[in-house]
Amino acid sequence: MLREVDIRLTPEESGEERARAHAAARVLGVPFSRIRGVRLLKESIDARQRTIYKQLHCIVAVDESLPRPDPLPEPPRALPHGAPRVLIIGCGPAGLFAALRCLELGVKPVVLERGKDVSSRRFDLKPINCLGHVLPDSNYCFGEGGAGAFSDGKLFTRATKRGSVAEVYRLFVAYGASPSILTDAHPHIGSDKLPRIIRSMRSSIQAAGGEVNFGVRADRLLRSADGRRLLGVGTADGREWTAGAVILATGHSARDIYELLAREKVLMERKAFAVGVRIEHPQSLIDAAQYHLRPGSSRPPSLPAASYTLSATRQGRGVHSFCMCPGGFIVPAATQDDEVVVNGMSLSRRNSPLANSGFVVSVFPEDTDELLPQYGPLSGVAWQKRLEQATALAGGGMMKAPAQLATDFLAHRVSASLPRCGYRPGITAWDLRALLPPFVSAHLELGLRLFERNIPGFSGRHALLIGSETRTSSPIRIPRLDSSLQHPFLEGLFPCAEGAGYAGGIVSAALDGRRCATAAAAFVRPDH
Ligand SMILES: Cc1cc2nc3c(=O)[nH]c(=O)nc-3n(C[C@H](O)[C@H](O)[C@H](O)COP(=O)(O)OP(=O)(O)OC[C@H]3O[C@@H](n4cnc5c(N)ncnc54)[C@H](O)[C@@H]3O)c2cc1C
Repeated sequence: MLREVDIRLTPEESGEERARAHAAARVLGVPFSRIRGVRLLKESIDARQRTIYKQLHCIVAVDESLPRPDPLPEPPRALPHGAPRVLIIGCGPAGLFAALRCLELGVKPVVLERGKDVSSRRFDLKPINCLGHVLPDSNYCFGEGGAGAFSDGKLFTRATKRGSVAEVYRLFVAYGASPSILTDAHPHIGSDKLPRIIRSMRSSIQAAGGEVNFGVRADRLLRSADGRRLLGVGTADGREWTAGAVILATGHSARDIYELLAREKVLMERKAFAVGVRIEHPQSLIDAAQYHLRPGSSRPPSLPAASYTLSATRQGRGVHSFCMCPGGFIVPAATQDDEVVVNGMSLSRRNSPLANSGFVVSVFPEDTDELLPQYGPLSGVAWQKRLEQATALAGGGMMKAPAQLATDFLAHRVSASLPRCGYRPGITAWDLRALLPPFVSAHLELGLRLFERNIPGFSGRHALLIGSETRTSSPIRIPRLDSSLQHPFLEGLFPCAEGAGYAGGIVSAALDGRRCATAAAAFVRPDH
């Protein structure tokens, strides 16, 4: 018989097959000799008590063998001659997973990406970090792999209703991710491993007959004579690309795409987003709080760098942690020279001595009303950009970021000195209250006081605030019909993933890419 069981083991024991089998036998009340196999399905850390356990959800074979595990997805088969085409604008997680899905469905994906391939793109990160110079089409947000390529590579998502998260994880493993992401409750890849996976996905797309074009920036819409049907796009190099359907997966940093849609009078709606700062602590402080470590003792090697998720709502407005990166670095995620935007990343081993997280406050469309007369539905984008430019001025240039100790932020004073920080372009002491909108500062203050109860030291003398975290999610939604996933007034346009307001993270973007590809394939092949 096969039974699913939950067992608890210490972190040291949890990796040992024999210890798992003994624990399973105990839970099932059968002799150890009858256990023929134990397979891990999900693994999480239970650190609620002083003694830390690993919680393992397993399938156990009693008196019979375990069935073979499901095989990983095969690379897509070669396309038949004359397969219909779908244009995919953007080669982030949404674009890549949309392309793979198109191939599964016998449709040719033609991907257009403004940036470079992921290997060449890496060389453009150095000028941002060392010279403060951002190439407008090749940076932490633009290029093959999108904003996900040099990210933390956390794959946790709550978007479980948008498609099969397990299928997305299995695809990542098929293209080179560690199989541990299939069982880890908080899977993580790391920015040292992501580029190889992205390259392998692209090779597979090309081998099956799909196209991936780099250095092509969509800057025009090609529409039918009556304007109601999207036929394709024009690119900055003067070329025109047509297809039966266009999946727009350009991410939320592609402000020129929002401007293009506004000029073309394509309906867009304002939506809520969040802004604030990155907060950085010594990783040891987070470990001590989350793992109940005694003063002076360090995290045992069997435990990963600890993380946290914090949130609170007061007076109808939220303050929360966002994209927490244990053992990580803070990176300059601006897409233009006149902005400073911070975000976080980590390597697969998460072994930097610093932990960082977005620490942000919700912004509602009404908060940006002052810009409505001038910018219409793009008021949130303009508001975000204004804050990013003010942040750059406060930092003093060269991508330096304004920063303040949390204790000084609470005491309304500029920090006299700043600690070492994991943001490579450097930091400048600044009064962040003078930079951030007052309601953002007020809620950050609230968050600092509240979260201190969860993590002692969260707002203490080792906590550093770095401005500004602005690109948490899109301030825009491009509407689409639930039935067809097409824009209600522009047939053939499939607004997709983060830039269109339907995703927030790598996995939800990948899921939405797959959904849009399924809908686009049905549109170009109505007979199937
Ligand atoms: C530093 C950093 C760390 C992050 N860490 C994590 C994490 O750990 N976990 C997580 O889930 N999420 C993380 N994120 C967020 C995550 O990367 C995004 O949510 C995700 O990449 C969105 O996917 P997408 O495909 O919708 O858009 P994007 O990834 O933004 O991709 C859009 C693509 O479109 C291209 N493009 C834009 N305009 C045009 C145009 N006009 N023509 C052609 N191409 C165009 C861009 O170059 C880009 O490649 C991180 C983001 C950053 C910046």
